[in-house]
Amino acid sequence: MKRALYFLCVTLCAQQKQIAITIDDLPCVGCRDLADARAVTGKLLGNLKGTPAIGFVNEIQLQTQGERDARIALLEQWIEAGKTLGNHTYSHPDANKVSLDEYTDDIVRGEVVTKQLMARRGVRNLYFRHPFTHTGPTREYKEGLDRFLASRGYTIAPFTVENEDYAWALVYRGTTDEAVRERVRREYIAHLDLVLAHMAKVSVELLGREIPQILIIHANSLNADVMPQMLEMFRNRGYHVVSLEQAMTDKAYAAPDTWVGKFGPSWL
Ligand SMILES: [Zn+2]
Repeated sequence: MKRALYFLCVTLCAQQKQIAITIDDLPCVGCRDLADARAVTGKLLGNLKGTPAIGFVNEIQLQTQGERDARIALLEQWIEAGKTLGNHTYSHPDANKVSLDEYTDDIVRGEVVTKQLMARRGVRNLYFRHPFTHTGPTREYKEGLDRFLASRGYTIAPFTVENEDYAWALVYRGTTDEAVRERVRREYIAHLDLVLAHMAKVSVELLGREIPQILIIHANSLNADVMPQMLEMFRNRGYHVVSLEQAMTDKAYAAPDTWVGKFGPSWL
């Protein structure tokens, strides 16, 4: 069955544009409390039913007094829904502001629960996403970090499409005015549509073809609410949602990332 699906995908996926959905700051960023985090998790996973996605965890979020098990249960829901979990460090440090030693310590501290959960699937090596998408301010820092991640079996998760969703989410959760919230949902998707069209163009200009796109968004109430519209927009643009693993089988992602700087621009 798996083999048949694989060949089906080789045939179909090669003809279709692809996009992978990666979601940072799990279990939930900007949630008021546990009830809110549960609601966002439930809605996000419900709307992503049957769609591949990977979530990147900040385990510091599991440390709320008396709520550790309940918050781990939110991550278990991702595993039960067939999604992948990766490490996004423990406390979300900025590589531009902490030493490499502090940063790598935070990575180790951030993998404890996530590794256990993925082990249930027989997966030992995790994906890693840099907080703020900052990959290290100097060549020495970045190369040291890359070596550290490789030595612990990590695969770095790149991204190509970033839509400043955190700014939209801030407005969205800051108001109870349904007219404003409806406008934010609508304009956020329209904005993402423009960004995706732009990155498709950049890919073709740079590589002569469109490589599988990798979207970076966050585990917040806005994305939970608009996910059906987002998936519809991808379909309308001819994209097939694939796993990060599938997207990264494209040979473009085997090219070394030699860019060094304070900011983490799109992989493209
Ligand atoms: Zn983050």
